Amino acid sequence: MARRPTCHALRRTRKKTAGRHWSRATVVPASTPMPSTQPGSPPVALPLSVVHGGAPEGPQSAEARVAEEDALGLLEDVELARLLAAPRERRQAEGARGVFINRNLRLAGVEMVGFDMDYTLAIYHQRRIEQLSFDLTLGRLITAHGYPHEIGLLPYDHTFVIRGLVVDRSHGNLLKLDRFGQVGRAWHGLRTLGHEAWHHLYRNAPVRLRGNRYAWIDTLFALPEAWAYAAIIELLEARGHVLDYGRLYDDVREAIDSVHRDNSLKQAVRRDMARYIYRDPELGPALHRLRSGGKKLFLLTNSHWDYTQAVMSHLLDGLAAEYPTWRNYFDVVITGADKPGFFSDNHTFLELDPTSGEVLGEATSLERWKVYQGGNLGAFEQMAGVSGEKVLYVGDHIYGDILKSRKASLWRTCMVVQELEDEIRYTEGRREEISRLAEVELLRARLDDAVNQHKSLLGTLERRLERDQLNETERAELEQQRKAAKMNLERLRRALKGAVTIAETLERDVEAGYNPYWGLLFKEGHENSRFGAQVEQYACLYTSRVSNLLYVSPTQYLRSQRELMPHEQAGATSGKLAPIGSEGPAKGSIRPPL
Ligand SMILES: [Mg+2]
Repeated sequence: MARRPTCHALRRTRKKTAGRHWSRATVVPASTPMPSTQPGSPPVALPLSVVHGGAPEGPQSAEARVAEEDALGLLEDVELARLLAAPRERRQAEGARGVFINRNLRLAGVEMVGFDMDYTLAIYHQRRIEQLSFDLTLGRLITAHGYPHEIGLLPYDHTFVIRGLVVDRSHGNLLKLDRFGQVGRAWHGLRTLGHEAWHHLYRNAPVRLRGNRYAWIDTLFALPEAWAYAAIIELLEARGHVLDYGRLYDDVREAIDSVHRDNSLKQAVRRDMARYIYRDPELGPALHRLRSGGKKLFLLTNSHWDYTQAVMSHLLDGLAAEYPTWRNYFDVVITGADKPGFFSDNHTFLELDPTSGEVLGEATSLERWKVYQGGNLGAFEQMAGVSGEKVLYVGDHIYGDILKSRKASLWRTCMVVQELEDEIRYTEGRREEISRLAEVELLRARLDDAVNQHKSLLGTLERRLERDQLNETERAELEQQRKAAKMNLERLRRALKGAVTIAETLERDVEAGYNPYWGLLFKEGHENSRFGAQVEQYACLYTSRVSNLLYVSPTQYLRSQRELMPHEQAGATSGKLAPIGSEGPAKGSIRPPL
């Protein structure tokens, strides 16, 4: 690599920038006189170095001085720039099918990739499975819990519920929270909650999801229960019933759990697998790409063996000549895993007979072509001989798959959010409206600032006109200035009012276009929704489906876009520190030699 002489370039750069840092670098001697505080003298700002003690300038160690010089050599290397600019052939997925990175991940360091099955490898036809689950649940509520037959006639509204909603069991409301836990939207039955009730219930007390009052709709399979809850409240209250909202929710939960527990739902799915589960032609190639990159694959699902076998066969059997059955893709298969208990409890690993599904006994090793049930994190890592950051786990459940595995282990995580494709395609389709909204919001902030400035100017002029001793000419001139300031202020106020209306209208339109009840999944107003914030906080990666991994090299270094804090966005130099993040050990864990 050609290196250019750098010392003089460095000196040149330092000379140019030296003036910018004087206030940080200047050490004020003890004898420096303090600014004057004589009455009547104009206020003088304290030198920052006096207030905060100042900070040293420039590289502190000899190694850092060399590194800074080397950096210039590297950055100015023409040959290197040419190599990096050369076009490369790379498989491209459309934007909506990207793999999005919250936390840097060096895929080359991952030795095992694990997958959940339902809603992860197996993407369900959402409308059909929700309708099926809803119908079965209503039936169970009538037959097992004594609800009136008329609830059986309720239609299912797919748009009314989205993932991430919260049920208030005490008051029968459905809520959408922002990342701070503030309630952004609230519905009671099929009516928006009135402002007074909203204010009384949620404005002054934080929504705490721990405890019994609130329940979080955090999986796709829970969506029908939210609709059933709201629709039954609407129907029965319209007929004058007084409801125990907590009991109703428990009954709906129990009904939906029972149709899962007794296999009614799964039997219906198995009767017509193609109707309910997509067969993604890119799933096999994506798994193959990971395997050919040297990764071992494992399946870790809560579904039991017979259903797992049926679904996985539907998904993968015969998809590629080199993988005659789905079993060929996986090194370890664990069913009935009881997540999140798998990550926190100490269940025994059992080996199953793959033909009969019967338990053969306790497992002491994990072998290819065998089938296991239950188990726990510690035993898995010990028997698989791989642990911590060498495992990437892909799942759809923010709590059971992602949050719990992140809290209990160092496994890296990838969350499958199948709604992501719709949301990205939708917002891309509304790109112009959204960028106009962003422009108007910036203008609104500037107008707000200008209104305040002009209010203050007008106040000053009015005070001067009232109090100062002025001759006629001075008074006429000031009066002229006051009139101009007042006119400008009025104009700015009108524009601000207009900008607020425009912004609110555009925002409402964009959100309602996606979902008229709840808006966007990942956003709540200006903020991330609580769901969006949880995905951001706990999932290292997120994507709409497993087959999107086909477009990522198994040795790629996935780098996150480093998020800047507001003071860094405002231009603080610290914002330039590692702008695309770092994956190394925690800062300070490696001590420099003394
Ligand atoms: Mg799942």
